[in-house]
Amino acid sequence: MRPFIYERAESIEAAVQAQIAAGQRPKNIASVHAPGQYLAGGTTLIDLMKLDVMRPQTVTDINALERSPAGTIEFSPKGLRLGAMVRMAAAADHPDIRENYPVIAQSLQLAASAQLRNMASLGGNVLQRTRCTYFRDTSYASCNKREPGSGCAAMDGYNRTHAVLGVSDNCIAAYAGDFAHALIALDAQVEVAGENRDRLVPFAMLHRPPGDTPHIETNLAPGELITAFLVPPIPWARRSLYLKVRDRESYEFALASAAVALDLDGGVARNVRIALGGVSALPWRAHAAEEALQGKPLDDDSLNAAAEAAFADARAREHNAFKVALGKRTLVRALRQAATMEL
Ligand SMILES: Cc1cc2nc3c(=O)[nH]c(=O)nc-3n(C[C@H](O)[C@H](O)[C@H](O)COP(=O)(O)OP(=O)(O)OC[C@H]3O[C@@H](n4cnc5c(N)ncnc54)[C@H](O)[C@@H]3O)c2cc1C
Repeated sequence: MRPFIYERAESIEAAVQAQIAAGQRPKNIASVHAPGQYLAGGTTLIDLMKLDVMRPQTVTDINALERSPAGTIEFSPKGLRLGAMVRMAAAADHPDIRENYPVIAQSLQLAASAQLRNMASLGGNVLQRTRCTYFRDTSYASCNKREPGSGCAAMDGYNRTHAVLGVSDNCIAAYAGDFAHALIALDAQVEVAGENRDRLVPFAMLHRPPGDTPHIETNLAPGELITAFLVPPIPWARRSLYLKVRDRESYEFALASAAVALDLDGGVARNVRIALGGVSALPWRAHAAEEALQGKPLDDDSLNAAAEAAFADARAREHNAFKVALGKRTLVRALRQAATMEL
């Protein structure tokens, strides 16, 4: 691992200032890498630093923020506020989240391992980086996400786990997280602290599609710190779930997943929210599938039409074409399960 400066921030303001200062230090590595990173649970950052994929000069430890509003879970008439320093396990096991927003609890419960969930934070979770082998292994020279302009070895390499939705000619890496799909399905917002202002960002605007710049993954400005996620009050989110399909039933990333929430009037869909994971380059809201179900009874015809709409723009490569069929089946199964949930 390369040497780096370690600092510990005791407040949100101090953390942001530390990262702004990090950006102003002369760069000791000629690279596109962000000069500073926040250290939350460290379960992704430290791995990537050891692999020499991420090379921050300054690492700002924000674990002290667990004792600030960034470390709390709150319910109010405005909905659910999840502090970014809340550990995954704390949110996954929270009885009110399990009851009122099961899709959130399940997306966290089905992620990683118990040890990782105890350590990892919600903020770090949504900013985790892809598990694409060509990104994580620096012995591959071609990775536009790691070294812009170097090409994408996954295009014609082994691409079984790669994305089919939201991909570009420069990158087909899949977004690996689970929780983000629950947040995007529920129209969550992200509370961000910056140098001169705090702001609220729709979660759907946090991540960027790979396009021509796959190395720029979010719309966060340098130094900006996520402090919380705000989930609006959606009483019918009690009928929601996260279905994750993977190569083994635990401690594995999704091959395909669906985060769904349903508001039913009799058997008819009054409101539907759908996000798809494992198959997409970024957290993915399936608006076309939602529209296909709006006002319809949830029968085989409408469910299949929704699945077709969800994957109409899919672009598969040699080894990941199965994800189109798997993704459709995952979505249909998730919707059927949600429709029959006992509330
Ligand atoms: C073996 C293994 C299996 C896993 N399986 C899954 C899985 O199935 N599903 C899943 O979703 N995840 C999985 N993960 C990923 C895991 O959930 C993430 O590593 C974890 O959530 C990251 O959180 P952290 O607090 O440790 O982040 P860190 O490693 O501390 O930080 C990650 C990144 O986020 C940035 N960051 C952290 N907090 C903030 C903040 N508040 N504001 C701005 N930037 C911030 C850091 O600068 C860094 O770039 C797995 C990880 C491992 C190692």
